[in-house]
Amino acid sequence: MRRNLVLGNWKQNTNKATAAALLKDIKLTLEKNPTKTEIGVVPPALYVDMAFKMAAECGFNVGVQNISAFDKGAYTGEIGADMAASCGVKYALIGHSERREYFNENAEILLNKVELALQNDLIPVYCMGEDLATRKAGNHIADIQQQIEDVIFKLTVKKLNEIVLAYEPNWAIGTGETASAEQAQEVHGFIRKIMTEKFGAAGNDITILYGGSCKPSNAPELFSQPDIDGGLIGGASLNAADFIAISNSF
Ligand code: PEP
Repeated sequence: MRRNLVLGNWKQNTNKATAAALLKDIKLTLEKNPTKTEIGVVPPALYVDMAFKMAAECGFNVGVQNISAFDKGAYTGEIGADMAASCGVKYALIGHSERREYFNENAEILLNKVELALQNDLIPVYCMGEDLATRKAGNHIADIQQQIEDVIFKLTVKKLNEIVLAYEPNWAIGTGETASAEQAQEVHGFIRKIMTEKFGAAGNDITILYGGSCKPSNAPELFSQPDIDGGLIGGASLNAADFIAISNSF
């Protein structure tokens, strides 16, 4: 279902004390500046329970940064989609460029993860993006098309209205360099077009987030684009005031 949504990906940041402090800050900021936008925090999995308790008080959602590509069993270190769902988690990031690059997650693994998320009533946030060389060569649209065809077009679990897509150009993640509103809209518009061609009205109704050095100063212009429904926020989500300001940028 298409809606405005802002998710904060904390990545491998915070410890127990600083995670608690950030959650408290988010609560206090929301009390002063309530947001009309749906927001979610995506902390390291160890702090999901802590986040969930705070979320229950302030009305935000909680996500995980990763789930296992396997259902259950002897996969040491992995966290299953069913485990996350049983802890109250709503969203699961899948296909983040850092997972693709550092953990060699390929299309087959990502397809398993998206399907397991849907089977366990988690909302997969399927992330896609092109690297700088691909962008410079003008091949970014073809690259994004491939990343959608490899996973989303192959889904056997048909719960399309529960999927969120995130366009995150790799060259903009954590670099301070943001895609311009025009660059982002070009890709978002293309994603919505091919989703609609493939799935009809359900494809058109998908929520598509932008991610890549999004901050309070550039969020209003990005979020005013016709096919940008919100943001997946990395660095700026570690500051409660910035995170809530971004969620109020529509
Ligand atoms: C991200 O990692 O999803 C991200 C968008 O990071 P940043 O906002 O720091 O670029």
